[in-house]
Amino acid sequence: MVPEKYRKYDIIDAHAHIFPEKIAENATVNIGHFYDLPMNSTGMSSKLIESGSKIGVKKYLVCSTATSPRQTASINSFIAKECAEHPEFIGFGTTHPDSEDLDADIAQIKELGLKGMKLHPDFQKFNADSPEAFRIYERIEGELPLLIHCGDHRYDFSAPRRIAAINDNFPKLKLLAAHLGGYQRWDEAQQCLPGRENVRFDVSSSLAFISPEMAAHMVRKYGVENCFFGSDFPMWSHEEEIERFLALGFTEEENRRILAENFCDFLELR
Ligand SMILES: [Zn+2]
Repeated sequence: MVPEKYRKYDIIDAHAHIFPEKIAENATVNIGHFYDLPMNSTGMSSKLIESGSKIGVKKYLVCSTATSPRQTASINSFIAKECAEHPEFIGFGTTHPDSEDLDADIAQIKELGLKGMKLHPDFQKFNADSPEAFRIYERIEGELPLLIHCGDHRYDFSAPRRIAAINDNFPKLKLLAAHLGGYQRWDEAQQCLPGRENVRFDVSSSLAFISPEMAAHMVRKYGVENCFFGSDFPMWSHEEEIERFLALGFTEEENRRILAENFCDFLELR
């Protein structure tokens, strides 16, 4: 039974990862090593739903990133298959800047009915504002929203200023800047990302690292209407992340927007 404090909200998880069962264990362990963080669960659809059900999540944006170009087609097929089996999933496909045929990758994403694209410059090892990456953005601008990992103090691939450069060059690209626009680069994110049309933010994998006051300040700076709730599952459980989110002290109306309505507006889900 979902506790009353969550039941009053329609909750959408705007950032979750799933992997095929065969590799889910390894993929999850590898991400844990990459970030040097303990993972809450294993990135499988069944586990995702089990975790989200505890707080009554109604929909999940699910994605997975290709660390080499040849994985792209099978990852996209996998995400589409999971979406067919789980109507509560909204699938985002992926590609890779080194892909030999970006047009084919993007055509596949559209044919499969996936709703957007996910890129992770740090895993995929490309600068988010490089000419190779621009070849992707110019093809999806106005067509597919892009969820992009942002920030890491150890790497510069996805630095917030590079995310800002994407928006400068592709103002019509709907950009979802993960982790409040810059995991571990919170100051840089606040300097260069507020006030940009077509840029939205999720609060996933952020709230455990900064104070509630600072997180609330960042959300207000970006605009409550521009921010989405997300778990970054399997990194965190939904219960952990919703508790951290509710501790930010937004009004019920603001919570409603961040937990679901803003995301529906962005993806035109209703
Ligand atoms: Zn992610």
